[in-house]
Amino acid sequence: MFRWVINLWQSIFGRAKKSNDLSPIIEKRLEPLIITDLRGELPTHPDKKYRIRNGPFTHIAIHHSLTDVGSAASFNRYHIENNDWPGIGYAYVISKDGTIEWCWDHNIKTYHVGNSNGFALGLVNVGDYNSTRPPLIQVEACLRLIQKVAPDIPVDKVWGHQEYPNYEWKKCPGNNWNMEEFRNKLQLLKEGRYKFKAFREV
Ligand SMILES: [Zn+2]
Repeated sequence: MFRWVINLWQSIFGRAKKSNDLSPIIEKRLEPLIITDLRGELPTHPDKKYRIRNGPFTHIAIHHSLTDVGSAASFNRYHIENNDWPGIGYAYVISKDGTIEWCWDHNIKTYHVGNSNGFALGLVNVGDYNSTRPPLIQVEACLRLIQKVAPDIPVDKVWGHQEYPNYEWKKCPGNNWNMEEFRNKLQLLKEGRYKFKAFREV
């Protein structure tokens, strides 16, 4: 009887304590998120330079690369040579295996969503998600990345490229990347209730 009461007490107390533990605790229990810092390492346009934002970013923009493969280096080359941009347009590149490349400081106003560049931080997921489905580990890496680098951005400010003004026509991040579902998962993560499936607990 006594033991039962203690167990009950501990389970209530334990649970109450747990509900106050938000995502950092969950992060700690997962295998580490691998982020390679390439800031200042990637080649840039010979005479063009990105500007600094006027204020902190308030939104996140999710893209897909529309290519089967790619990396920060290849997108950087493409954006400079084909688009004549100062450098890669994305702050982060998320690979299909869930590893991440970090390309720009968050205060750099890179090109990726036109008139919204000033207030949106751009993340790209390598893949063509109109023709294939994103691997779960990539989706989960994207969730973890957002929670790690922009914990204060509410989920309703996390938009797919095509949700930005003037980009309704753009199928980005792809028909198979469901933004509603993604935001629901991010909300669960913020509440400490998202259960990771692709990342292992350690
Ligand atoms: Zn896009």
